Amino acid sequence: MEVDYIVVGQGIAGSCMAFELMRRGLKVAVFDDSWKWAACIVAAGVINPITGKRLVKSWRSEVAHTAAKKFYANLEGILNAKFYHERRILQMCRSPEEDSLWRERINIPEYADLIGEYNPPNSFSDLNDSFGSYFINRSAWVECPVLMKAFKSFFEGKKVLIESPFSYETLKLDGECLEYENLSARKIIFCEGWRVRENPFFKWLPMRPAKGEVLTLKSNAILPDHILHRGHWIMKYRDFFRVGSTWDRENLNCIPTPSARAELLSAAENILPKAGEFAVIEHSCGIRPCTATTRPHIGVHPKDNRLLSFNGFGSKGFALCPYFAGHFADFLECGTPLDSEGNLARHVKKFFR
Ligand SMILES: Cc1cc2nc3c(=O)[nH]c(=O)nc-3n(C[C@H](O)[C@H](O)[C@H](O)COP(=O)(O)OP(=O)(O)OC[C@H]3O[C@@H](n4cnc5c(N)ncnc54)[C@H](O)[C@@H]3O)c2cc1C
Repeated sequence: MEVDYIVVGQGIAGSCMAFELMRRGLKVAVFDDSWKWAACIVAAGVINPITGKRLVKSWRSEVAHTAAKKFYANLEGILNAKFYHERRILQMCRSPEEDSLWRERINIPEYADLIGEYNPPNSFSDLNDSFGSYFINRSAWVECPVLMKAFKSFFEGKKVLIESPFSYETLKLDGECLEYENLSARKIIFCEGWRVRENPFFKWLPMRPAKGEVLTLKSNAILPDHILHRGHWIMKYRDFFRVGSTWDRENLNCIPTPSARAELLSAAENILPKAGEFAVIEHSCGIRPCTATTRPHIGVHPKDNRLLSFNGFGSKGFALCPYFAGHFADFLECGTPLDSEGNLARHVKKFFR
């Protein structure tokens, strides 16, 4: 069978990429080994324009978040599923210093429309908001498992999904087209998330993966619809709520740990001091495909322009992939330039041997 592109990985990166290529009338074959250690089914799915301890505007959020909103709204109709929710984030300050930082940000024009109203200390009786809080506008929540399952059904329906591990040794590069078992393709796009380190063509790229754990909890607490953030996030999820997440760059495995469980329970108690007992319903973890530069690795292999990477979306895959899938498809099919910070070409001189 002849296809234009083989896509390896049906996480959020591979799904957006394959969908974007199909939308343009191109033929694809998507390989995935059943979300093995995938980050996309564990993720919180928050789209947050201001992140990190220094409260900086998320990279490319001005274009990527607008594109994500449009992309997901359109996709809900096509996939016949509801997974995109506009949700404000209630950012609770942890200290007077953090409050001062927010005040500084409000006075910077590019942050002005992202930061909503200020709530003085103790505005919310059930929450720990003793240093005040701020609403973040233009934030959203993607219900990741619903989206990923809907994407999967779509690819199955179109008969493009091959649920099997992709074996790198089986790929033949000798002819004009790439050959893989009974497939012949013009190009191949690797979207394996953190498991790119098993990929002989792109494992040289400077990754810095980070394990993250999340708890699903049951309690009598009454939570507002907002995503609550105070060092950790907590949000309503159906009849339960979810709290996350931890960061661990040493133990890259998918084994839930007692220390993360304790950290997350303590975070839940801290944010909701009057909630009483929490029952743990589920404890899950995944590995974020973070990179050394915090920028994705998008682009072309330095020695063979049929081998492509669409990876390295770190802790922001749901926010960035819709925009960058369109951007990469434009580059591949129309020759438009790649984002210079996201282009993996910047790493070739230093890391490629
Ligand atoms: C705890 C946690 C919280 C997060 N919260 C957020 C958030 O709030 N907002 C946000 O935007 N992002 C969040 N993220 C990050 C987000 O999950 C990632 O950015 C995103 O999932 C990366 O997508 P991906 O497709 O590159 O990788 P993955 O989701 O890991 O998918 C890779 C896929 O490739 C498949 N694969 C790999 N190798 C092979 C092979 N050889 N053959 C076949 N298949 C293969 C895997 O099975 C998997 O399905 C979070 C992540 C974690 C862990």
